[in-house]
Amino acid sequence: MICPECGKLIGVGEPRCPFCGAWRPGLYGVTPRLQRLFGGRLDLVGVIVASCVALYVLALALDPGAIMGGGLFNLLSPSDGALGRLGMTSAYDLATGRWWTLLTAIYLHGGLLHIFFNVMWIRQLGPAVTETYGPARAFVIFSLAGVAGFMLSDRLSPYPSVGASGSIFGLLAALIVYGRRRGGTHMTAQLWQWAIALFVIGLIPGMHVNNWAHAGGFAGGWLAATAMRFGDEKRESVLVQALALALLALTAAGVVLSLLNTA
Ligand SMILES: [Zn+2]
Repeated sequence: MICPECGKLIGVGEPRCPFCGAWRPGLYGVTPRLQRLFGGRLDLVGVIVASCVALYVLALALDPGAIMGGGLFNLLSPSDGALGRLGMTSAYDLATGRWWTLLTAIYLHGGLLHIFFNVMWIRQLGPAVTETYGPARAFVIFSLAGVAGFMLSDRLSPYPSVGASGSIFGLLAALIVYGRRRGGTHMTAQLWQWAIALFVIGLIPGMHVNNWAHAGGFAGGWLAATAMRFGDEKRESVLVQALALALLALTAAGVVLSLLNTA
């Protein structure tokens, strides 16, 4: 296996890394397993996109009356009832202890255009964040940005929220943090333009966009990314890989909890 501290090739059972002295680098077999998982078998951007699509289809299936119900602009828009059963978030949900909706709402979408554009942005930005930070760090940034966005919007807005937009703003922020630290002025300017354009579109009256979630997601993504190292500076630690898996498991458990909670 590869020592998570210094990156040299060592035996799994070594009590200490002979090169850097790291204590129990193999963690009784946990480290090499995580390295294999994040080293290729687990495509987290693919998992995110597939989860968004699967939950969108499930939300429509839970309340098929809403499929044609809303007129042209709300075509294929899941009902609030169906989104609520899968883990939409609101101030009321937080007040009544449904904290996991901060995670589950990231993967829910209110309409065909909403999910189409969000999936497009995730596929555009996700691989770049994965490449620069590493897959586990990228997933932690994506999740924490979404949580930060909904924490802000649940606090400041009376409306319930869904959507990966806050997380997408977090991915944009992470790439800007990367560009600034690496001196990529052209790339950074381009990313700022995207972030500002997306934010301004949200301010158009009648767009029903959750601007608080966008701002909170951007701030959350920025903070999370600033606290992290890049993939070429330091390998992802067992801790951040475990955190990514824990967030993934919590999100999946959150959808189940929501369904049980509203059954
Ligand atoms: Zn080492």
